[in-house]
Amino acid sequence: MRYLILSDIHANMTALNAALDAARGHWEKVVCLGDVVGYGPDPNEVVDCVRELGAITIRGNHDKAGSGLANADDFNPVARAVALWTRDQLRPENREWLEKLPIGPLTVDGFVMVHGAYKDEDEYVFAPAQALDSLLDAPAQITFFGHTHLQGGFTLHNDQVGALHFKPQDNHFSKLTIEEDTTYLLNPGSVGQPRDGDTRAAFVIADLPNKSVEFWRVPYDIESVQKRMGVGGLPEPLIMRLAFGR
Ligand code: ZN
Repeated sequence: MRYLILSDIHANMTALNAALDAARGHWEKVVCLGDVVGYGPDPNEVVDCVRELGAITIRGNHDKAGSGLANADDFNPVARAVALWTRDQLRPENREWLEKLPIGPLTVDGFVMVHGAYKDEDEYVFAPAQALDSLLDAPAQITFFGHTHLQGGFTLHNDQVGALHFKPQDNHFSKLTIEEDTTYLLNPGSVGQPRDGDTRAAFVIADLPNKSVEFWRVPYDIESVQKRMGVGGLPEPLIMRLAFGR
């Protein structure tokens, strides 16, 4: 079974459409690692789309704040403003769908999904030392995580933690071949708000029976998203950052 692995879509329908167009025909099932909403201008459109895709989805911190399940007190002022804006925009049934999303970790078809870290959905895994806990805790060889918006991940092999970075060429992907005696913590990157200096939408196509994980990047029309954010009155720093991929 080939899986399309999405994370951190953040209410960016243009980026999600670009990812789906590029990935068409390459997958049978979809999973989503959380942060369906927050930051972006299209919360209802993105929730509708993820629901229509039948994506197996776990919640992220922005889904909790955007649905009202959590107050946004621990967010910075900009993120909090958008969480409240998102709450206002969401249709009741979409708000309820977000509220009821399961908490990771979730095991699907032999791999594990988490939003942040294995033991804490809100923890950011940036460094090998932080990755080690999740690599040791996870009950499967491969765990997919999000939250940092950085495409790549970590490996554990012979008690050594390694870091993985990818720089796919235009409209293409980098392929990782899964090795027998290695444990993986892999981040597909963010569809709707990449922060690794690459502005393109990021996602993964995983064909684990064939030991293949493809890290994809596809360009999308950033300006059209920025325009909708402006019309919606979303904070300027969020509008700007899409153009920098930071
Ligand atoms: Zn996020």
